[in-house]
Amino acid sequence: MHYTGPVIRPPYEAGSVMLEVTVGCTHDSCTFCTYYKGHPFRPAPLEQVRADLAEIARFRPGTDHIWAAGGDPFSMSTRRLLELADLVHEYLPGATISTYARVDSMRNKTVDDLRTLHDAGYTDIMIGIESGDDEVLAHVNKGYTAADVVEQCGKLDEAGLPYNRIYRRRCSTRFARSSCTSRPSPSSPTPSSAPRLRGATSRP
Ligand code: SF4
Repeated sequence: MHYTGPVIRPPYEAGSVMLEVTVGCTHDSCTFCTYYKGHPFRPAPLEQVRADLAEIARFRPGTDHIWAAGGDPFSMSTRRLLELADLVHEYLPGATISTYARVDSMRNKTVDDLRTLHDAGYTDIMIGIESGDDEVLAHVNKGYTAADVVEQCGKLDEAGLPYNRIYRRRCSTRFARSSCTSRPSPSSPTPSSAPRLRGATSRP
């Protein structure tokens, strides 16, 4: 298997087979993140992906789910993501695919594109939203605003492509006027600018 730099996945993907499809992050500028420093963003060569899939099929036959590894694989074009899904299914028929995405990964995709990607096997993506507060987002140099979150995640909702979100709790409570927790509750009010989205997890 080929892995370049740190290989990171959400805790709930701990049992998934990890397949490198990109290296690095397209943004690589969030103030709190050093994950991919020194590893500029690039798609993994398809021949490398093919070789790794052959290895998975040989040593883990019956694999039915893949974590597509890299900082921002969903930023790739719809065409490239569909090529990857075809390749995965050539070796692992019926396998589902999860991956990381930035909010702006959806900008180059229409709702129909997202629906097609879901039909092709992308069953869930994890988005590091971090906060619904524009002040926090600017402070950590996230590269998008709360309005962008609502617009782009709204496209996922419309397409029916499931997604999870990460909120960065400590940063929000330290720097923002209002609190922003990963799991809003009656004792931790949701900021008025925060998008109303589905399930969340948190970074420390
Ligand atoms: S978008 Fe994610 S991977 Fe990229 S710099 Fe920000 S936190 Fe790190």
